Amino acid sequence: MDYKNTLNLPRTEFPMKADLVTQEPARLKKWETAKLYERIQSGRAQAREKFVLHDGPPFANGDVHIGTALNKILKDIIVKYKTLRGFSAPYVPGWDCHGLPIEFKVSQEMRKAGDASADPATIRKACEASARKYIDVQRKQFKRLGVLGDWDNPYLTLNKEYEAEELRLFANIVEKGFVCRGKKPVYWSIPCRTALAEAEVEYKDHVSPSIYVKFPVVGQPKTFVLIWTTTPWTLPANLAVAYNSTFQYVRVRAGDEKYIVFRGLLPTIAEKCGWSNYSEQPVSLDEVSRFQCQHPFIPKRIGKLYAGDSFVTSDTGTGFVHIAPGHGLEDYQLGLQVGLPIYSPVDDDGKFAYTNDLPAEQQMPKEMVGKAILEKHGKSEANEAVLHELRTRHALLHQENYHHSYPHCWRSKTPVIFRAMDQWFIEIDHVAADGRRLKSNVERGTRNTESSQSLVTSAATFRQEVLAEIDRVKWIPDWGVNRIKSAVESRPDWCISRQRTWGVPIPAFYDAKGEPILDAQIVRNAADLIDKHGSNVWFEKDAAELWSLLKPKGWKGPEVVNKSNDTLDVWIDSGSSSRSVLMRRRELQRAAGILPAGQNTGSSGKMPEARRWQADMYLEGSDQHRGWFQSSLLLSLAGNGAAPYRTVLTHGFMVDADREKISKSKQGQGGYEKPQTSEAYIKKWGADVVRLWVSSQDFRNDIIVSEERIGKVAETYRVIRNALRYQLSNLYDFDPAKHTVADDKLTGLDRWILGEFSKLEQEVIKAYDDYEFHVVYQKVSQFTAVELSAIYHDVIKDRLYTDPANSHRRRSTQTTLHRLVTGLSQMLAPILSFTADEAWEFVRGKNQDSVHEGEFSRMGLDLGEEERMKWRDLLSLREFLLPHLEKARQEKLIGKALEARLQISGRDTQAELWWQEAEKLRELLNVSQFISEAKSAEALEIDLSNVDVHSRKPSFPELTVTIDKADGQKCERCWHWETDVGSSPEHPTICGRCVEAVKQFKA
Ligand SMILES: [Zn+2]
Repeated sequence: MDYKNTLNLPRTEFPMKADLVTQEPARLKKWETAKLYERIQSGRAQAREKFVLHDGPPFANGDVHIGTALNKILKDIIVKYKTLRGFSAPYVPGWDCHGLPIEFKVSQEMRKAGDASADPATIRKACEASARKYIDVQRKQFKRLGVLGDWDNPYLTLNKEYEAEELRLFANIVEKGFVCRGKKPVYWSIPCRTALAEAEVEYKDHVSPSIYVKFPVVGQPKTFVLIWTTTPWTLPANLAVAYNSTFQYVRVRAGDEKYIVFRGLLPTIAEKCGWSNYSEQPVSLDEVSRFQCQHPFIPKRIGKLYAGDSFVTSDTGTGFVHIAPGHGLEDYQLGLQVGLPIYSPVDDDGKFAYTNDLPAEQQMPKEMVGKAILEKHGKSEANEAVLHELRTRHALLHQENYHHSYPHCWRSKTPVIFRAMDQWFIEIDHVAADGRRLKSNVERGTRNTESSQSLVTSAATFRQEVLAEIDRVKWIPDWGVNRIKSAVESRPDWCISRQRTWGVPIPAFYDAKGEPILDAQIVRNAADLIDKHGSNVWFEKDAAELWSLLKPKGWKGPEVVNKSNDTLDVWIDSGSSSRSVLMRRRELQRAAGILPAGQNTGSSGKMPEARRWQADMYLEGSDQHRGWFQSSLLLSLAGNGAAPYRTVLTHGFMVDADREKISKSKQGQGGYEKPQTSEAYIKKWGADVVRLWVSSQDFRNDIIVSEERIGKVAETYRVIRNALRYQLSNLYDFDPAKHTVADDKLTGLDRWILGEFSKLEQEVIKAYDDYEFHVVYQKVSQFTAVELSAIYHDVIKDRLYTDPANSHRRRSTQTTLHRLVTGLSQMLAPILSFTADEAWEFVRGKNQDSVHEGEFSRMGLDLGEEERMKWRDLLSLREFLLPHLEKARQEKLIGKALEARLQISGRDTQAELWWQEAEKLRELLNVSQFISEAKSAEALEIDLSNVDVHSRKPSFPELTVTIDKADGQKCERCWHWETDVGSSPEHPTICGRCVEAVKQFKA
C-alpha cells in the first residue's frame, strides 16, 4: 500500500504566482459587473456612523502621475478601512476641470492647427472636450489602482450644477461684503496673460541685472541720490525714492560728482563703483527727507523722498530704494499712504505702454513704448532699453549680475512681474457687515488697512476668524496647524479674477462710466441661468442679452453697458466643493442623529445643523496648505459659516533617490528615463505591490521612490501571499459549519497563535485608526514572517498531513487556520485590495461575496496571562534548543530532526513545565522523542522566592542537552521514529498513530 496517498496533503486553486498584472484587471471587471461599490453603499445605508473623506480634485490633464496615485491609494485605504469597521463611507471622486494648464494646451493645439482667432465659446468647447478626455483616461487609471468609488457619478467643476452652486456660494460672499475691486499689484504671467494667485507661483533661482542709478537732486548741481535695483524695467514707473529714517547718510565726493548713500554700505558701493579717492560728509536726515529728485531719464518727472524703514535694508544696495507703486507690494502700500498714483505703464502682453495716469510730458521716452519685459535667453528688451537710456544720460554708475530667488509662473516657468491692475479681490481682513466698516475701504485704490483696522478693533476680522476656525480642526501631522496658520497670517488679499477664458465667469457688468457692478442678486440670477445652460451662455450672449436675463426685479442701480470677461480663479472652483458637493449630494450628508465619526452626542444629544455636511477628512499633499485646504477653508467659512472639514491629513511628496521631488514638470523636461506615471508602475508591479509599497512608507514624510525599495516590498508581498496560500491549501476538507472546534477545545498551540493574532489585531486596528499604515505593514509582515512562517505553519504540518483527517487535533488546527485566513484577508483588504479579495473567494462559510463588503470581525483569542506566559516559555526553550539540533545535523549525528531523541537535564525554574508539556515541546521541535529530566529548583532546594519568573530572560544556562538517534524505527508514513512500528500485522511498516489514520482513511 502506498501510504503517501493516505496523507492529507495540501491542495488549493489559489495560485502561488500572483500574476497581478493580468489577474487584477479580471477582478476589476468582476467588481464592476457585480456593482461592488453600490452594493457596499447599500449594505451600509443603515450604518450608525458615517465617515466622509472628501476627494480633492486632481486636474483633468494628462496621465495619472505616481504622486497622484499615492494620494488616491491613501484615500482608498482609509475609505476601505472605515467601511470594514462598519461605517457608511461613500467616496465621490472629483476633477478640477477649468484652468490655465488645459487652456494653454488647447490654445497651442489650435494654433498649430492654424486656428489662432477662435472666439471664447469655441476655445471653451475645445477645453471641455480635452478635460473630459482626460477625465476618462484618469478614471480608468485610478480604477486600475483598485480605488473604489462612485466613478460613474464623479463631481466635475465643469458641470453646470457645480458651477451654479459655486456662484451661489460666491453670491453669499459678495453679499457679505468680502469682494472688492482694487488696483493692486498682482503676480502677472506674461505668456499666460493672466494674474496669478500666490499658489500659482514658484520660486526659482534667477539672474537679474543689478544696477546703481543716479537720481539728480533738484537744486544741487552734480549731486545724486544713488539707488539700487534688480528690475531696471520698473524705472519708467518710478515715482519716488524711499530711505530709512534710522540710517546715517553721507554725501560722498568722487571726482567732480557728489552721491548721497547710506554710510554703512559706502565701502561696498565705493568698491563696486570704482571710487578710489573719495571723501565723505554726513548729511542730516532732515535734509535727506526734504530732497526732491529728478527722474534719471524723464526730466519733467520730479519725485519726493519718503521713509520706508520696513523695507529699506542695510545689507544690500545703497540705502535708497526706488519706488514704483504700480509694480511692488511695498511700493504700492507706500504709494497709497502718501497719495501717489498706482502707475503701471505695462500692458497685458508685458510691454511698455502709455497710460492716462500721468501727463504726456511725464511719460517715458517714446522709443521705449512696446518694448517687452519678458526675458529671452536671459535678456529683456525692456531692461535693455532702460539700460541704454541710462547709459546715454550717464545715469548708470554700475552694473553686474545678481543671483537671487525670484517668483516664476508655475505654468510657463517664466519670471512673473508685479503689475498693478484692476482686479477683484476677496478681502482677508474683511470685518463682517455690522455697520462699523468704512465704505471707502472697498472703493478703488483708497484702501488703507491701518486706518480701517483701528476703526474696527472691537470686531474680529475675517483673518482672525479663519485662524480661530483652524484651531477647531484636527491637523495630522500636528505641524500642519502651524503651516496653514502662517500661510493665512501672511497672505495678502485674494486676487480672484483671471483674464482667461476657460473658467467660471465672474457675473459682473460695467456701467457707461466703466464702473464695475457686482451684485449678489445678479450673481444668483446668473447661477440659475448657468444651472440650466452651463457657463458657456455667459460667453455666447452679449451684454445686453445677459442683462435682460439677469437684471434683478426693481433694480435701482446704474444701467449696464458691458459685461465682464474675467473668470474666477480656479482655486475658487475647487474651493467651493463644500457647497457644490458636500452640501448637495445626499449620500455625503449625515441624516439627523447619525454622528460624525468619533463624536459623542454630548449632553444635548444633537449635532449642530450646520455640521451635517462637514466632511470628516480632507487628505492631500503638504503643498495644499497654501492651496486647496486654504481656499476651501476661506470660502466655506465666509459662505457657509464653518470649516468644510473636521480633520486634515497631509502626506509628503514622492521623491527620487536624491530626494528631489518627482514632479510632473520635471517629467516634461525629460528629467526621468522612465515615465513617472501610475501606469508605468502598475505595468511593472501590479496594483497590489504598489499599494503595499505605499502602505509601507511613513507618508507623513517624503516618500522615496526606487526600484530597489519596491522590489523589497514585492518580496514581502510574496511572503504574505504564501502564508495565505498555505492556510487555504489546508482547508480543502474543512467545513466551518460542521468541523469548527470551540475555543476551549482548541489545542494549546492553536490557542497560542490565535492569542498572538489577537495582539496583532489590536495593534493593526490602532495603527489604522491613527493613519499609520506603515505600522500596519510592519506588524503584519513581521507576524507573517515570524509567528506564522517560522513557527506555526512549520510546526502544524505534521498534524495536518498525518493525523486522521477528521481527528480533533487536525480539526482544531483547521479551525485556527480558517480564522487566521479570514482575519488576515480582512485586515489586509484596505491595502492588498485585490489579493485579499482573491483569497476571500476561497474561504468557506463567509457571508459576503467580496471581502470589501464585510464587517471586520475579530478572529483572535484573548488568552489569560498564565497561558500566554506558558507559551512564551515553551517557545523560548524551543529557540534555545533549535541550534543544538542544527549542530547535531551538521555533525551528521542525525539527518532530519525527526530522527532525533532530544533530552534535557540539569536544573531549571521551569522544570515542572518542561516535564508536563514534553509532548508540546516534542511537536514544537519536530523531533520523535523529547525527554525532560530537568529538576526544578524546589526539588533541588534552592530558594527562588526573590526571582520574578515572568521578568526573567530565559537563557537556560544550567540545562544539559543530549541528542541521540531516536528509539524505535522510522514510520514509513509519517517518518517519525516510534517504538510501536510493526505492532500491527496488517501495516508492519507504520506506527500506531498512522495505523489509526489509515484505518479511518476513505480513499
Ligand atoms: Zn507514523
